[in-house]
Amino acid sequence: MPIPEHIIDEIRDRNDIVEVVSQYVPMKKAGRNFKANCPFHQEKSPSFMVSPDKQIYHCFGCGAGGNVFSFLMNHVRVDFPEAVKMLADRVGVKVPAPSKDDGVRDSLSQVVRRINQLAESFYRERLDLAKGVDSPRDYLKRRGITEETIKTFRLGYAPKASGAFLSYAKRKGFDDNTIEKAGFVIRRDDGTIYDRFRNRIIFPIKDLKDSIIAFGGRVLDNAVPKYMNSPDTPVYNKGRHLYGLNIARDYIRQADSVIIVEGYMDLLTPHQAGFRNIVASLGTALTADQIRLIKRFTRNVYILYDSDKAGQMAMIRNLDALVTEELNIRVVQLSEGYDPDSYIKERGKEDFEKALKMAIDLFDFKLGYLLKMYSDKSLEAKVKISKEMLETINRVGNAIVKADYIRRLSDALSIPEEALYTELKKAKTGKGDYLSKETPAVTERIDKMDDAPAAEKMIAGLMLEGSDWIERTKSYLSQHDFDHPHIKKMVRILYEVPINSKGIKPSQLISRLKEEVPPECISALVLTVEGMEDKEKCLEDCVKRIKQNKAKRELKSMQSEIQTAQLTGDNALTERLMGQYNRLLRGATRG
Ligand SMILES: [Zn+2]
Repeated sequence: MPIPEHIIDEIRDRNDIVEVVSQYVPMKKAGRNFKANCPFHQEKSPSFMVSPDKQIYHCFGCGAGGNVFSFLMNHVRVDFPEAVKMLADRVGVKVPAPSKDDGVRDSLSQVVRRINQLAESFYRERLDLAKGVDSPRDYLKRRGITEETIKTFRLGYAPKASGAFLSYAKRKGFDDNTIEKAGFVIRRDDGTIYDRFRNRIIFPIKDLKDSIIAFGGRVLDNAVPKYMNSPDTPVYNKGRHLYGLNIARDYIRQADSVIIVEGYMDLLTPHQAGFRNIVASLGTALTADQIRLIKRFTRNVYILYDSDKAGQMAMIRNLDALVTEELNIRVVQLSEGYDPDSYIKERGKEDFEKALKMAIDLFDFKLGYLLKMYSDKSLEAKVKISKEMLETINRVGNAIVKADYIRRLSDALSIPEEALYTELKKAKTGKGDYLSKETPAVTERIDKMDDAPAAEKMIAGLMLEGSDWIERTKSYLSQHDFDHPHIKKMVRILYEVPINSKGIKPSQLISRLKEEVPPECISALVLTVEGMEDKEKCLEDCVKRIKQNKAKRELKSMQSEIQTAQLTGDNALTERLMGQYNRLLRGATRG
């Protein structure tokens, strides 16, 4: 099934990353590299770099990075085989047709997709089987869900028995371990496993290619938790998808707008009533990935979240991220106590249509909310309100819109416009206690390698400069001297590189480790050592530091061994360990 490694290498080598990226992003030459405003986050001065030598890209602003394949996967939003196909076509390389029996083991994500497929039909059959009063089918009927909707969204039912799907999947040839990795079971303290979804209506979650990637389950009674979703698996990351987008995409394009609701049920009733440009975020906070997905289809967003809910301020703050992305956001307000489902059922679709028409701009919605919250009009209240509002205004790209907002805020609070402009400037330069500008998903990405020791990062970067650096490092350090899991995996591959070869290209390492190490972790390393003056000295220092770190880790684990020995009263062992500890300590301080 998988495309042979040498063909992937050929396709990658023949597609120059600078040429490919410049098809999508205008770039400027900067020394040996190229620079651009990052296509993955909003910025004013360029921190996105493309290296023709290393054939990688990396953004120092948001931490995005990788090789030519990762660029297409993240920018055009295709999966790996599609990216390979696009680049193969570009340079006229033939990709062999996949054959089923080439004896290569399926990747874990392929197996997970197969289990998902199996689970979907299993749950669907169980929904058909359960008939009669108080059956899941009866429940859906009572909630007004039609047969057609059940078919469109392929709803299902997970039976009560704690091992219903588990034993079914095992009979179909999947083992415990794989079923667990696919997220279908929960492990008890004693190590045994049982079905995650029990006695729930099942909502399969699909990606844009209509492939099932995860499941959501809703209780039929008042049990808690009301909703439950698959955990992250090799094919699913929470916050990267929007429920129902596979069905809504064309409607969103036609309407040039999208309605975003929170949950499954909030989506089904409006869909049935003909509002088909609707998706569910499956959570109150929209992530950067979800925002990017929306932008592919429209810039006009209607937010329709529960109106009488705690955490409204957090929701509003999250919407500020959409302003940065230059989306037009309107907030739909339903009368108190209603959710989209109950609103349509009780008031009809005409009223729902009206509510959409009356949706208000995020700026007005936020201001209205804050004025209600701080109704005393004290100076302190004004400071708080203006601070929150400037946070939104600061994200507006258009100067005219910005000026209009400032004027309206000045009117609402009876504060001179100049004062607001002064505060706005402070917010820009990062002074003042403003909230982080990053949306959660972006922050997560930057932090991925932050926990790795600097010395390990630098030496891994050096080894990507050529095989002589690998040889030098090898003569000082063994694989086990490294601590960070990602770097360990890189070292494993680097140490296999033959002597006197050209080494391994960073773009190639990214491909080799694509299932194990995020590409941006590798591209980040490459640029840490670039332009470094004294690489020789750097290697020496790093080797020393890595050895020290290792000794520290050993001392620490020995300390706990000694403690255990003391607690159990094993004096001989305690004494022996103490001796070892002291020898180690002397070595560590000498090194
Ligand atoms: Zn960026």
